[in-house]
Amino acid sequence: MNNKIFVTSPLLPPLEEFIPYLEKMWSSRTLTNGGSFHQELEASLADYLGVKYVSLFSNGTLALLTALQALRVTGEVITTPYSFVATSHTLLWNGLTPVFADIDPLTFNIDPEKIEALITPQTTAIMPVHCYGIPCQVDKIQQIADIYGLRVIYDAAHAFGVKSNGTSVLNNGDLSVLSFHATKVFNTFEGGAIISHDLKTKQRIDYLKNFGFAGETKVVAPGINAKMSEVSAAFGLLQLKHIDRALLAREQIYQRYMRELALATGLSCYQFADDYEWNYAYFPVLVEEHFPLSRDELYEMLKEEDIYARRYFYPLISSFSMYRHLDSAAPQELPVANQIAEKILCLPIFPDMTNEEQGRIIETVLRLSQRKCSEDVNVQQVA
Ligand SMILES: *Cc1c(COP(=O)(O)O)cnc(C)c1O
Repeated sequence: MNNKIFVTSPLLPPLEEFIPYLEKMWSSRTLTNGGSFHQELEASLADYLGVKYVSLFSNGTLALLTALQALRVTGEVITTPYSFVATSHTLLWNGLTPVFADIDPLTFNIDPEKIEALITPQTTAIMPVHCYGIPCQVDKIQQIADIYGLRVIYDAAHAFGVKSNGTSVLNNGDLSVLSFHATKVFNTFEGGAIISHDLKTKQRIDYLKNFGFAGETKVVAPGINAKMSEVSAAFGLLQLKHIDRALLAREQIYQRYMRELALATGLSCYQFADDYEWNYAYFPVLVEEHFPLSRDELYEMLKEEDIYARRYFYPLISSFSMYRHLDSAAPQELPVANQIAEKILCLPIFPDMTNEEQGRIIETVLRLSQRKCSEDVNVQQVA
């Protein structure tokens, strides 16, 4: 009866618009290794995002892995437990030790006040995440990095198109890493990028993503294969033509949620501040104690209505078996992250969501928000 509504649905342009790109590829017979679509997408993205250099990757995880290699990060890296597992996994894959810092309850991002106490002689870098595309406190983080001589690599997987003080948040830190996975605001099926600020660094990144080749017979580093293919790059160029419409649609969906879900007691919606331009990548809500259902009950009951919200990010990275032995992973060291992980639920938001679909989500959440009150106490709650 009802169609299923997932937490997200990929941005897809009309299929016929993609055919000319494929025809060009078939005639040029260039499929990868920095072909013309790849070069064009790097330039177009740098221009669109307002950044200096873009290096395209086959996915965001390989881009993170390579960013750490590019800066020769060693030892310990201070990061957030409140993220997708790839953030910390790329540290382990590089033989680095993640050190978890607690998060700020208002932005869900690493709390700069918690960083300094975790620095040891082994610390060489900080890897924060602009969670949900909400900018980190970049100035405070940079100040700490400057004092202690640390590198800053932003996992900016959620932060496509986010601007602060009129400039891209991707211009902060030494490097920023984007993901163009199908679930993200801007996708190339799979894909990612590293944003760098000087040509020498871009060049090293580009060598590293192509086995370390710096010429036909010259290999300068033990690189990896993380190149973006021409088909993904071409798709990215087409997506760029649709991205502004998609961002606007996201904003409208966010505004309607904010207007209509305000009627639900016990739900805290994320109210974004107006000192930055957001991309409305996610719609996070906190299911508070005075909501009549637990977060997991709400999640399950929405599922029964074919509404697939997601608990991003639960469980915390620090609770997984490969991390929980770390001193910094102990729940008492991360009280805010643990609280948020228990309360968080991301409701569906994607550019092609219909008014009807969003109406169904809002109506269901509002109905469930009154459920126990009316059943247990038999008093009709007035919205
Ligand atoms: C999606 C995501 C990644 C990984 O990106 P892929 O392109 O899927 O490899 C890394 N970090 C965060 C925070 C993400 O959400």
